[in-house]
Amino acid sequence: MKRGAQKILFVASEAYPLVKTGGLGDVAYSLPHALAARGADLRLLLPGYRALLRQLDKVRILGWLDVRGAEGIVSARILETRHPDFKFPLWVVDCPPLFDRPGNPYVNAGGQDWPDNAERFAVFARVAALLAADALELDWQPGVVHAHDWQTGLVAAFLADQPARPKTVFTIHNLAYGGYFSHGDFVRLQLPSYWWSSEGIEFHGGFSMLKAGIVYADAVTTVSPTYAREITTPEFGYGLDGLLLSRAYKLHGILNGIDTAIWNPSTDAFLPAHYSISRINPGKRRNKQALLERFGLAADEAALQEPLVGLVGRLVEQKGVDWVIAAIPTLLAETDVRFAILGSGQAIFEQKLTRLMKQHPGRVFVEIGYDEPLAHLIEAGSDIFLMPSRFEPCGLNQMYSLRYGTPPVVYRTGGLADTVVDTREAALADATANGFVFDTPDVAAFLAAIRRALELYRQPAVWRRVQQAGMGRSFDWHDSAGHYLSLYST
Ligand code: ADP
Repeated sequence: MKRGAQKILFVASEAYPLVKTGGLGDVAYSLPHALAARGADLRLLLPGYRALLRQLDKVRILGWLDVRGAEGIVSARILETRHPDFKFPLWVVDCPPLFDRPGNPYVNAGGQDWPDNAERFAVFARVAALLAADALELDWQPGVVHAHDWQTGLVAAFLADQPARPKTVFTIHNLAYGGYFSHGDFVRLQLPSYWWSSEGIEFHGGFSMLKAGIVYADAVTTVSPTYAREITTPEFGYGLDGLLLSRAYKLHGILNGIDTAIWNPSTDAFLPAHYSISRINPGKRRNKQALLERFGLAADEAALQEPLVGLVGRLVEQKGVDWVIAAIPTLLAETDVRFAILGSGQAIFEQKLTRLMKQHPGRVFVEIGYDEPLAHLIEAGSDIFLMPSRFEPCGLNQMYSLRYGTPPVVYRTGGLADTVVDTREAALADATANGFVFDTPDVAAFLAAIRRALELYRQPAVWRRVQQAGMGRSFDWHDSAGHYLSLYST
């Protein structure tokens, strides 16, 4: 390690490929690697969920830390491991009563929040703050602690009044999840009473761990510049817009990158055929064929000509899934389009999509669940990608689809607005147009944008330019990491 390398403790509640429920997991893998590639000396701290511990091979015990839990003192064993997928050491908080349980990190099998989430993530944050102060005397003290989303919001708060403390950076990946808990939890966890104020972490009679990060971190970032502006307004602020506006001086928007080693159409191991910007077809067609066959359709020449529209993502209102469900019957009636949809989420959306599939066999394909290989195949094998999110902190799927030559249809919000350039005449002429953007948050505007996409799809030469504009744009983590490094050092 270079002398003087910046020491960064990265604190997150999930990281690909060990445990991932969404975009946060991708970022918690990719960003530290991009920082390490630029010379940073990193440790990534994660909770020791059962599924995570089972994937670790050789672990070393760094020590034990006793911290306050909900019912008294909780003892956490701190493990260090070198995992083949990570180029820096992982630190894991092994605390079986809190983390050794099956399933999802945040919710139980019934989809309900784990009832002790306040304790789980308060303990995780306390441990993180102690490690940041080198409480185990490992002779490794970070200059920066970078925490992510509500699960780690208390880290900056615990560090705020420590002497000679590291700089704290808190990244909001999604303001919609506030980590709200009760006054009873606040008392049980013996959080400092002076935090209980509207200037502290109190929020509408309870408290918010996300708010703690916003109030106490030295710098707050969101994952796109447009989202950083949007969350200071009532429409996107979830009641935190006033606070965020008052903290605008320390609020920054840094666009996520994508992992271009994993998401690369010329090397992607999940794809039956590869392609690149200089030769998109026939590779893309072979993927389209495989995707149609995956859903049981014999892909003849006619089927390969007809447009295939893809969607991958959480089936929740945020993602505009209701608009998609409303648009599908109209589009099926007026064009020869097909849909390939992968996702899981709210039961009502899962049911409605499944019903559409039954009503339109051979034209609507729906897979409910989480399927990494199929996600890659949909990105590569579709012609057009749908991502009409009502709000989108950054969004990864639209960047994947741009890179895979699958122009996205998006609502002009957050990271979608920062990455997708609409095919207006001017943008087509200067070869920057890479997708289809609509400006009014309703089904009619969404439908109009899809119709524009379908129309251009019929013009292969223009279409290829739109594909190439997306495939040629860099969404490299190297650039984002540079922005974070300068933030860390100012
Ligand atoms: P969010 O973090 O809001 O869910 P993003 O677009 O930022 O949305 O990131 C979603 C990530 O999760 C992407 O890597 C996407 O491919 C993946 N993903 C979402 N749903 C599924 C699914 N059902 N199967 C496979 N991957 C999925």
